[in-house]
Amino acid sequence: MHFHVLTLFPEMVQNGISTSITGRAIARGDIALSTVNIRDYSTEKHKKVDDYPYGGGAGMVMQAQPVYDAWRSVRDALGKDVRTVFLSPQGKVFDQQKARELAGEEDLILLCGHYEGVDERVLEEIGVEEISIGDYVLTGGELAAMVVIDAVSRNVPGVLTNADSGTEESFSEHLLEYPQYTRPEEWMGRRVPEILLSGHHENVAKWRKEQSLLRTKERRPDLYALANGEEMSGSCGKNK
Ligand code: SAM
Repeated sequence: MHFHVLTLFPEMVQNGISTSITGRAIARGDIALSTVNIRDYSTEKHKKVDDYPYGGGAGMVMQAQPVYDAWRSVRDALGKDVRTVFLSPQGKVFDQQKARELAGEEDLILLCGHYEGVDERVLEEIGVEEISIGDYVLTGGELAAMVVIDAVSRNVPGVLTNADSGTEESFSEHLLEYPQYTRPEEWMGRRVPEILLSGHHENVAKWRKEQSLLRTKERRPDLYALANGEEMSGSCGKNK
């Protein structure tokens, strides 16, 4: 899968994605990251990319022309229509389901806004899908793009080397993951639950599932309701 990020701060995205799992996935060729500096596409003498908002008000707005030309450069190079996401606090809130869905794309363009945002007309012309990473306002779309790239990449085949670590993670089957422990067996007087030391795989799996349900019920009753609904419809299906 190839991510193409349109941004005023390419180094920020390159640096953020080039470490750990995503960095290794890029090195192996399981994912690719290209950044396009929107400023390079400004036709203005001083490479200006923003201007005052019509109607007045605080801050500056990114102009349509450089954004559109940067986007066209990617689309024309690929020679096909490419799904384009605009990172925006006004978009639909990103979740694991969206991460899985986007992982099915061969190419994905991510447009990062800055200042007060982007001229609405270019968003309409491109036909962007707006995605927010939460109900708060960031300075720019770069951190949001990195969040999306990281979460999507984990769903791209080959990126997680241990296949299991993806399927049992939080939000799979609408559940949060069970608690995790590692050496030593006792730390500050707190012991690892005995069952995890038993070597009995079936009992461990049962305990983990129970913990997973308990955590989700306590911490995320909204998810728990979904998980319960699915389990019930699953068993209904079996009874038919
Ligand atoms: N004036 C805009 C508003 O109130 O909707 C906010 C602009 S914000 C300072 C600048 C840019 O940061 C946005 O264009 C967007 O690309 C990005 N951004 C800010 N908050 C975000 C969020 N929660 N999710 C995704 N992107 C966000």
